[in-house]
Amino acid sequence: MTAILFDSTVTRKSSQSFGRGIDRERPTPFEPSSQDRAWAAESFDSLDQARYQAEKNARLEDSAREAEWNDQFRLAPGLCEWCGEPSDWLDPVHKLCAECMTDAENSTIACMNKVAMGEYRVF
Ligand SMILES: [Zn+2]
Repeated sequence: MTAILFDSTVTRKSSQSFGRGIDRERPTPFEPSSQDRAWAAESFDSLDQARYQAEKNARLEDSAREAEWNDQFRLAPGLCEWCGEPSDWLDPVHKLCAECMTDAENSTIACMNKVAMGEYRVF
């Protein structure tokens, strides 16, 4: 069995130098050619454009889905729920125009008067 001790106090000098086997005669480090650089720039640019387009399409699809979701809860703006006429003011609860809201309130009051006095009328 072989044991490896890492905290040995004995210093041992290697007979061979560090970095042996590396070719020291190479004059300059590796430099990519201009064709390599052009290819890399084009490749990275196309990848970046593809990523940008994918993010843009995802944002557009998200907003389309959000608009589609919101549309199902939206009534046609400004149309009275009773008479169907366009109006610039609608009751926020019943979505009735002013005339239909007044008619509805008068009808309710007349019904209460009918119960109380026997007459279907509004004073
Ligand atoms: Zn109306």
